[in-house]
Amino acid sequence: MIDSKEKKIEIMAVGSELLTPYFQDTNSLYLTQRLNDLGMKVNSKSIIGDNWNDLLYSIQKSLPHSDLIFAIGGLGPTQDDLTREAFSWVLKKDLIFKKELYRKIEQRFQKRGLPMPPVNKKQAYIIQGAEVLNNQNGTAPGLWVQSDSKDIVLLPGPPHEFKAMFEQSVWPRLQEYKQGYLRRKILKITGLTESRVESLLSDIHVRTPNLNLSLVAYPGQIEIHLTGFSQKKVEELKDSILNRLQDNVFSTEGEELEEIVGNLLVQKEKSLAVAESCTGGLLAHRITNISGSSRYFMDGVVAYSNEVKKELLGLNPELIDKHGAVSPQVAEAMAKRIREKSEADFALSTTGIAGPTGGTPQKPVGLTYIGLSWKGGTQVTRNYFLGTREIIKFQTTQKALDMLWRYHYHRGNSRGKDTK
Ligand code: ATP
Repeated sequence: MIDSKEKKIEIMAVGSELLTPYFQDTNSLYLTQRLNDLGMKVNSKSIIGDNWNDLLYSIQKSLPHSDLIFAIGGLGPTQDDLTREAFSWVLKKDLIFKKELYRKIEQRFQKRGLPMPPVNKKQAYIIQGAEVLNNQNGTAPGLWVQSDSKDIVLLPGPPHEFKAMFEQSVWPRLQEYKQGYLRRKILKITGLTESRVESLLSDIHVRTPNLNLSLVAYPGQIEIHLTGFSQKKVEELKDSILNRLQDNVFSTEGEELEEIVGNLLVQKEKSLAVAESCTGGLLAHRITNISGSSRYFMDGVVAYSNEVKKELLGLNPELIDKHGAVSPQVAEAMAKRIREKSEADFALSTTGIAGPTGGTPQKPVGLTYIGLSWKGGTQVTRNYFLGTREIIKFQTTQKALDMLWRYHYHRGNSRGKDTK
């Protein structure tokens, strides 16, 4: 990322609700991403409640060391919307009533057959010399103020108003500050830990200025984010990483694993069924989240209790009694039985201990067995995942999808035991 020497950028998100646990300042994230797209870096970010003194303090603090300030929110008609007034006070610029703006706001109410509440008159005042930014989705106009060679942009808080105004009126004006247009590529990996990915890439140095590689770790998934201003350099870096990580990268275009697996099944005209115990339907849920999954998804059974495993799936009762429900034998039998019953080409099964209770020294929380069955054989993996119940369930589904993906990637060669 270019550190824009010319412009120091600050984002101020205004709104007391943003200081509660219930609302997130998502507008700043959107704005940061769009600024980064132009090679502009945000220097600081703050959240300020709807309080006059707090606002004055924050504006006074940020003005001396910022060249471009975005203040989001607090442009509404109510008494606690103070952003416009606070900037006018600190910048020592009057608020000027604009008849045209007043009419526009009035017309917006008229269109909806409503009288304009008197409080909305406040929104027709602009900071002296400011340019008005049209709000196509609301009544609060945005303002672009220039003062002492600084640019101050006031934008409304509701995300649909904010985004539309940003794209329509701010984005075009920012082009004059742009350092280039940022290219992004995200490689998604499963089946490797973050430290393993790091060590595999340790000698791939990014020497080109303005070309970045960063790792982002999620449970069951590592992402490699590549950014740079040259499409060619980003592609070259992507290719060298693909060369190194080979079959561990399942996506380079942002797709989720369930989408990749679905695409493979469509391409090969194959079908899938699942029998789930510890994942409680999450695997079927992820598979069916993909539009068009009815083309390949045949059946999903949540065989949570041993009775259902026996009765619905037809598992041999002795198998469960002998090995326990969390065992490679049961995982294998579940996958085989659901595939046979549904007449699908492939089947996945999950059985394990998602916790936090129910673990034993022999079968601790996080232990899961995952089965993959196909016409010529089966494969069962023993896994040990760490984390909360939710994370263990997710990781189990991730690994199950990964097994099917790798099966296809390697076309079944030397994977699993053949039971033909
Ligand atoms: P108006 O009051 O006319 O709707 P406004 O500019 O005064 O516009 P706010 O009152 O500050 O906007 O915020 C309205 C709503 O928009 C908030 O309740 C919140 O849900 C959402 N919002 C505000 N700021 C942000 C933000 N930074 N990120 C995400 N959502 C926000």
